[in-house]
Amino acid sequence: MEKIEFIRDTLRKYYDSHTVPAPPSIERREFGAGNDKKIDWRHMSFPAEQQLNAYLRSETPLYISYSAGYYEFPEGRPMPKKNWLGADLVFDLDADEYEVDCSHSKDLVCDKCMNRVKEECIKLIEEFLIPDFGFAHDDLHVVFSGNRGYHIHIRREDVHGLSQNARKEILDFITASGLKPARHIRRRGKHLLGPRPDDWGWPGRITRAIVDEIGTGNEKSIARRMGMSTSTAKKILAKKGLVLGGIGQGDWDQVNLDPKTWRRAFGLLAIEMNAEVDKGVTMDVSRLMRLPNSIHGGTGFIACEVPSLDKFVYYNDPVVLGDGDVRCIARATMDVVLKDKVFELEEEKQLALPEYAAFYCAAKGLVSIWG
Ligand SMILES: [Zn+2]
Repeated sequence: MEKIEFIRDTLRKYYDSHTVPAPPSIERREFGAGNDKKIDWRHMSFPAEQQLNAYLRSETPLYISYSAGYYEFPEGRPMPKKNWLGADLVFDLDADEYEVDCSHSKDLVCDKCMNRVKEECIKLIEEFLIPDFGFAHDDLHVVFSGNRGYHIHIRREDVHGLSQNARKEILDFITASGLKPARHIRRRGKHLLGPRPDDWGWPGRITRAIVDEIGTGNEKSIARRMGMSTSTAKKILAKKGLVLGGIGQGDWDQVNLDPKTWRRAFGLLAIEMNAEVDKGVTMDVSRLMRLPNSIHGGTGFIACEVPSLDKFVYYNDPVVLGDGDVRCIARATMDVVLKDKVFELEEEKQLALPEYAAFYCAAKGLVSIWG
């Protein structure tokens, strides 16, 4: 059987027996879908859940997305004819954005890269969106993309009107773009002044990290994280009490360091602590995002809302397809773990896989469907 036939049959069977809930304000959203690419066509709209599901059952695209934006005429084209009314604030974090030394091909994932993207997502939420921007957990809809990452949708009405520039400012803040250490660590007369740990935003955040590192680190870790020599780190540690007491008051002069040393530490810690997201997605107020609760045609995983990132297991929780046997021929030799089971593929060997594993492996080119 051709791979595409198997994939489409399996998706159709799924959509025939499940209802994909409509996103909020479905009648104001633009939809796009695709088979070869994620979006091969767009400018579609559905008045209600029923029509959306009828479409999934009859056309069964491999990928379906909906707009972060709200429009008066979501089908209108070109774009200005839609009359944009606002947009959710969205963030996209994808495993292939991060430098992680994985040994697999770009198409696959492993614990290392998936843990990294999860950590970034938790950082974005816990260190920025909630404390700095004042969102509540309930405002943040975290959705597994169905493949390698997460999307965060914020649908609160007060974000709808944010312009592209306002969204860029939010990104500049969370990525620490434009942070100028020389502005925060500065000489005034004989004194070297700097932020205090309880200051708001980045200056306070970095100062707290410096206080923490000096308080609990050793000369090696201080040297590495703050980009200074171990002898400088030693000097700081020898006067630890004085240095920490000084910084607590905004006085950074207790060890007589060149201000550049502190500024370098500031810059390095900003890079370490910022959140990396795909900026293009957040700034694009007409972006199409994978429709939550649809199936990702490249994995067979459901793009599901994630109630607890800590507990989410990317190779178990989004597996929703059936488990009837599908006969396959392996095209690679490797182990694939899904639903806590290990499937041992051996190139050219026949094997029977449960439908969800056959879908995943066929979509990734690891098996051919046989018979
Ligand atoms: Zn990996």
